[in-house]
Amino acid sequence: PTAQIGVTGLAVMGRNLARNLARNGFTVAVHNRSPERTRSLVAEHGDEGAFVPSESLADFVASLERPRAIVVMVKAGDPTDAVLGELVPLLEPGDIVVDCGNAHFADTRRREEALREHGLHFVGTGVSGGEEGALHGPSIMPGGSAESYRKLGPIFERIAAQVDGVPCCRHIGPDGAGHFVKMVHNGIEYADMQLIAEAYDLLRAGLSAGPAEIAEIFRGWNTGELESFLIEITADVLAHPDAATGRPFVDVVRDEAEQKGTGRWTVQNALDLGIPITGIAEATFARSLSGHAEQRAAARRAFADAGQPWWVENRDTFVEDVRRALLASKIVAYAQGFDHIRAGSREYDWGIDLGGTATIWRGGCIIRARFLDRIREAYDARPDLPTLLLAPWFADRVSDGVPSWRRVVADAARAGVPAPAFASSLAYFDALRAERLPAALIQGLRDNFGAHTYHRVDREGTFHTLWAGDRSEVSA
Ligand code: NDP
Repeated sequence: PTAQIGVTGLAVMGRNLARNLARNGFTVAVHNRSPERTRSLVAEHGDEGAFVPSESLADFVASLERPRAIVVMVKAGDPTDAVLGELVPLLEPGDIVVDCGNAHFADTRRREEALREHGLHFVGTGVSGGEEGALHGPSIMPGGSAESYRKLGPIFERIAAQVDGVPCCRHIGPDGAGHFVKMVHNGIEYADMQLIAEAYDLLRAGLSAGPAEIAEIFRGWNTGELESFLIEITADVLAHPDAATGRPFVDVVRDEAEQKGTGRWTVQNALDLGIPITGIAEATFARSLSGHAEQRAAARRAFADAGQPWWVENRDTFVEDVRRALLASKIVAYAQGFDHIRAGSREYDWGIDLGGTATIWRGGCIIRARFLDRIREAYDARPDLPTLLLAPWFADRVSDGVPSWRRVVADAARAGVPAPAFASSLAYFDALRAERLPAALIQGLRDNFGAHTYHRVDREGTFHTLWAGDRSEVSA
C-alpha cells in the first residue's frame, strides 16, 4: 500500500479534491462506483501528481497506508449510507472515514456513533467553495475526533485556501460540528445574498437606474468595508448583457430563486434551539415566496397600485444610505449566525471556537469577506461576547448606520418595494435594544386563556391571575 489518502466518489467535487491533493504532493488512491470516472480522471489529469486508481472498493482500501484516511465525496443522503455499508467491513480499527458531502449534521452524528462502534473515526467535514474551491483551495470544516485531526489536519490545511499564510481549515469539534458549521455558513450565505438582492432592488427603484449603473455602485462598495466575493460577483452579474437579446442578464432570468435545502435546515434547527436567526429565515422564505408564481401573478393584478411613487432627492446620499443599511443588516445576519453556532456548540457540547470559525471562512468559501477578520478579532478579544453587535467595530458601524437604515426601510415601505431582510434586521436590532417588549402582553394573554402563568418584574415566583373569578393573583 502506497497511498496516503483516498477519495471515493469522483464527480466534479471528488475529482477536483483528488486533483488538489495530488497537486500538493500527496499520493491519492481514487475510486468511483462507475469506473469510467476513475479512468477519465487518470487519463486527463494523471500527470498532475501521484494517483493510485482502483476499480473495486477492496483494491482501493488495500492501496492505502494504515491507518487509512478515506474521503467519501458522493451524493449526500442514502448514497453516503450505501457507501459506508460497503466500506466499513473492509476497514480496520483506527481507520478514518471523512464524509465531505453536504450531510445534515444529525446524520453525521448518527454515522459517527455507528462507526465508532467499529473502532473507526468518522469525520463529517463541511467543504465550501464549489468545484473551483475544491480544485484550488476550499474552506474546510472538519468535525470528528481530535485524534483523527492529527492525521487529517496537515493534509487538509495544505490543500485549503490560504489567507495571510493561515489555512482556511481547522478542527471544528467532535462528531457533527463540522457539518453544523457548514450548514450555518450556508444559512448566512442565504442572508447575505438576499440583502445584496434587496440593496440592488432598492437602488433600482430609488434611482430609476439600470443594472449596469448599479453594477458600478457595487464595484465601488467592493473597495470598502463591504469588500467580499459576493459583492464582487454581484457587480459582475449586474454588468453582464444577455448574449441572445442584448438586454441586461438579470432582466431575462426568471425571478424565482431556487434552493437545495441548507437554508431550510438552518432555520429548522434554529427553531429547535430557540435562536432568532431572522435574517436567514427571511432570506429562506423570500426564496420560497419568489417561487409562488401563480399567487404572485394574481396579487400583482389585484394590487398593482398599492405602492407610492419614489423620488430620491440626492443620489449620493441615497446610495450611501443603502450601503450603510446593507452593512448594518449584514452585521445582524452574521451576529445571528454566530449566535446559532454558539447555541449548537452548547447543545451538543462541541466547544466550537467562534473566532476560529470566522478565520476559516476568510478564503475559499462563498461568504469570504474582509469583514470576517473583524469577527475573528471580536471573538478572540471576548469569547463570551453576548452578541457580535456589541463588539466595538460592529457597534460603531451599526450605530452610525441607524439613521440610514431607518430611512431606507421607511422609504421602501412607503414605495411598496419589498425589503424583508433589511426590515427584519432593523426590527431585530430595535427589539434587542428595547427597554420593554410587548412580550409582557403575550404572557398576559397566555395566562388569560390558558393559565400559562407569568413572572413579575418586582417579585420572585410564578403567578396566575384568576381571570374568570375575582381577578386576584395567586402563586402558581
Ligand atoms: P453528486 O452529488 O452529483 O454525486 C455524484 C457522485 O455520487 C458520483 O461519484 C456517483 O457515482 C456517486 N454516487 C451516487 N450514488 C451512489 C451510490 N449509491 N453508491 C456509490 N456512489 C454513488 O456529486 P458532486 O461532486 O456534485 O458532489 C459530491 C458531494 O459534495 C455531494 O454530497 C454534494 O452535496 C457535496 N458538495 C457539492 C458542492 C458543489 O458545489 N457541487 C459543494 C460542496 C459540497 P457514479 O459516478 O457511479 O454515479
